[in-house]
Amino acid sequence: MTKTKQAEDFLAKDRDYVWHSMKPYNPDNTLIAEKAEGSWVTDHNGKRYLDAMAGLWCVNVGYGRKELADAAYEQLREMAYFPLSQSHIPAIKLAEKLNDLLGDDYVFFFSNSGSEANETAFKLVRQYHQQNGEHNRYKFISRYRAYHGNSMGSLAATGQAQRKIKYEPLAPGFLHVAPPDLYRGADQEDTEAVNLQSVQDIDRVMTWELGETIAGVIMEPIITGGGVIVPPEQYMKGVKEVCEKHGALLIVDEVICGFGRTGMPFGFMNYGVKPDIITMAKGITSAYLPLSATAVRKEIYETFKGSEDYDYFRHVNTFGGNPAACALALKNIEIMENEKLFDRSRELGNYLKQSLYDRLMDHAFVGDVRGKGLLIGIELVSDKTSKEPLHTNLVNKVMNGCKERGLIIGKNGATVAGYNNVLTLSPPLNIEMEDLDFIIQTLTEELQKIQ
Ligand code: PMP
Repeated sequence: MTKTKQAEDFLAKDRDYVWHSMKPYNPDNTLIAEKAEGSWVTDHNGKRYLDAMAGLWCVNVGYGRKELADAAYEQLREMAYFPLSQSHIPAIKLAEKLNDLLGDDYVFFFSNSGSEANETAFKLVRQYHQQNGEHNRYKFISRYRAYHGNSMGSLAATGQAQRKIKYEPLAPGFLHVAPPDLYRGADQEDTEAVNLQSVQDIDRVMTWELGETIAGVIMEPIITGGGVIVPPEQYMKGVKEVCEKHGALLIVDEVICGFGRTGMPFGFMNYGVKPDIITMAKGITSAYLPLSATAVRKEIYETFKGSEDYDYFRHVNTFGGNPAACALALKNIEIMENEKLFDRSRELGNYLKQSLYDRLMDHAFVGDVRGKGLLIGIELVSDKTSKEPLHTNLVNKVMNGCKERGLIIGKNGATVAGYNNVLTLSPPLNIEMEDLDFIIQTLTEELQKIQ
């Protein structure tokens, strides 16, 4: 495609003025998005791309939903801002609705991003233990390969050394254990054994740390950014029991899994567990506006209700629970319910996973196809026996080939520090069937090129 003069100008200005996350500036590879509708994004040259990565930014109801824009617009005209040190109606309605979705028993602290929701969780868990007179409980356990955010606490919780090394020391008091890995773990053929070992690991770390120093565990239901690691069915239950045994709280990070990605309203609902704290972010508004929430079991919240100054949760932010974002979030949840997108995620996800499995597992470099709902990972290896991660150049070749043909996919992994060898698919939950087939066909053909 020949680039227009205007298109060239945007690329030049982008290079001059915009600092992008996570990549060196590469003028030939930057997609400058201009419009988006449904599952499709159009760039400034008019080229269309199916966004099969949309789920990692959680555009769960798809792009271009005018009813979401209208909900925010009406609220902005009615009352644009008021802080939640007092209250306002959109936040009250949204908290009530979220409580319904979670199945009752939670109160909500609103913030602006996933990192902030997790940071809020760490602070309130530490204060909760303090208020119970347990002054030594400050440590958190999280899993290697998980991502929990960019701030000094949430990055400390993150288990990907390559993201941390240049910024250390981070917040102290964060420990890591291995996640259960049914593809790479020892005994990976034996789900029971992987589960037992992973749960025992946490139990042992807590015991060695004297139990009474552990404030909580933070985990995603399925590790997303670390390579779509689906745990054994019993794992989360086991972790919760270990937390209870040692007096620690379980924080479940639903920043990506929440709002239908895994085929249930929230990821933890696949595993029959009631978390103490649940953090949620971009999916709450399908990423249309910044908003996040930290859901806290009422029993925990009650301990903050004393009348003395030191009983308050001394944590505040200006924009959290912004009225327009709350109004938009309510409409977003209404769309998900009306269009039955949680069920749709499960059904389409099963179709996508099975189709990819059938077409790709014979490929020399495809080690594993896994996922839940519309969150799918395809792990690429150079050797199926040693499971050596496929070289980044080849992974990039597949991704770039897809992009050339109008398909945006992601890569994640942290399988070995620095290796992102897991292709990640997470399209909008209302993706059309023919678009799913476009993903399957394009990806299969691009993988064939590196046979
Ligand atoms: N937790 C998880 C599981 C995430 O994937 C992310 C970001 N994708 C975050 C937390 C941080 O969210 P944010 O970028 O909104 O701060």
